[in-house]
Amino acid sequence: MAERFKTSYSTCKPCTILCGHKGNINGEIRQIPEYETIGLMGSNLEIFDPVKISDWNEICSLMGMDTITAGGTLAWAMEAGEKGLFKTDLKFGSTDGVSEMLKDIALLKGAGKDLAMGSKFCAKKYGGEDFAIQVKGMEMPAYDPRGSFGQGLAYAVANRGACHVANSVFALEVYMDLIEPYTYRSKASLVKFQEDVISSVNSLQTCLFTAFPYQLETPLLKFSPKFVLKILMTAMAAVAVRFIDISLWPEFWSSITGQRMGITSFIRAGERIQVLERLMNTNEGISRKDDTLPARLLTETRKCDTKERAIPLEKMLNRYYMVRGYDKNGIPKPRTLKKLKIKKAALGV
Ligand code: SF4
Repeated sequence: MAERFKTSYSTCKPCTILCGHKGNINGEIRQIPEYETIGLMGSNLEIFDPVKISDWNEICSLMGMDTITAGGTLAWAMEAGEKGLFKTDLKFGSTDGVSEMLKDIALLKGAGKDLAMGSKFCAKKYGGEDFAIQVKGMEMPAYDPRGSFGQGLAYAVANRGACHVANSVFALEVYMDLIEPYTYRSKASLVKFQEDVISSVNSLQTCLFTAFPYQLETPLLKFSPKFVLKILMTAMAAVAVRFIDISLWPEFWSSITGQRMGITSFIRAGERIQVLERLMNTNEGISRKDDTLPARLLTETRKCDTKERAIPLEKMLNRYYMVRGYDKNGIPKPRTLKKLKIKKAALGV
């Protein structure tokens, strides 16, 4: 894409990560589609034409639609169409009708009116819940948790659904190879730690994409042999996470507000946010039954995985509730609320 579209950086200034690009697509300078868009509107739909994906990216951007949700919902429509559950001409591998359907979704026209409600709604109405790849109504980003069990747990329990911005354990499991991806051991502690830290980082209004370079700068983490870190992370995540340096963010907070904040208080603030959100969800009827994954990810294995591994969600979920201080139905216990100074009455719960 860099060669074909002669890309250059197009990012928030003055960020040094420079994660966005623009380029010349058919004589027009456009934002280059990013990873999630290419994943969900590309390979997810068996489309490998970057110009078409760019067209759809433009439509979604102009219409204020999320490309992950749009791509996930189109995939449900294509599969439901194949199986005769939903009347549509959309087909995997074909670009025909996708641009028009995206506009119909935005304008609530024809079949677009149902698809605008997302794959959970459509699957409930027409069938195909096992292949509506969503959690709590949010379509899943382009990381298959069958190759990253911790991310499977993270998607299942995230307060707003299959969200990779609430937790990105896959980065430690897969990209950085710091924890064994195909084990359920230690994943609950790791998911909780990441959720707490990310909640606080997001509350600082700093970009989450800058998080990993900061976190991984400690000499211990940088210069320790990877296999030692991996054993430690997999066997004792609660201890290993102490090697991750998050001191920069409390320092940001202190430098702006003048209030002292240590690492422990920073993590505790994130924990309070997480539990508060969960309590609000509980008030809306969310519980263990919603902390799950689409049946396809729990029962079907990947063709590339010769060991045919599916996600051991139940085992990780029990442990996660324990470390979070939730009961076995996923409801925050009174003593957890007391520890975090959360008053139910103030929420009207
Ligand atoms: S890393 Fe964040 S702040 Fe930096 S360019 Fe990307 S989105 Fe913007």
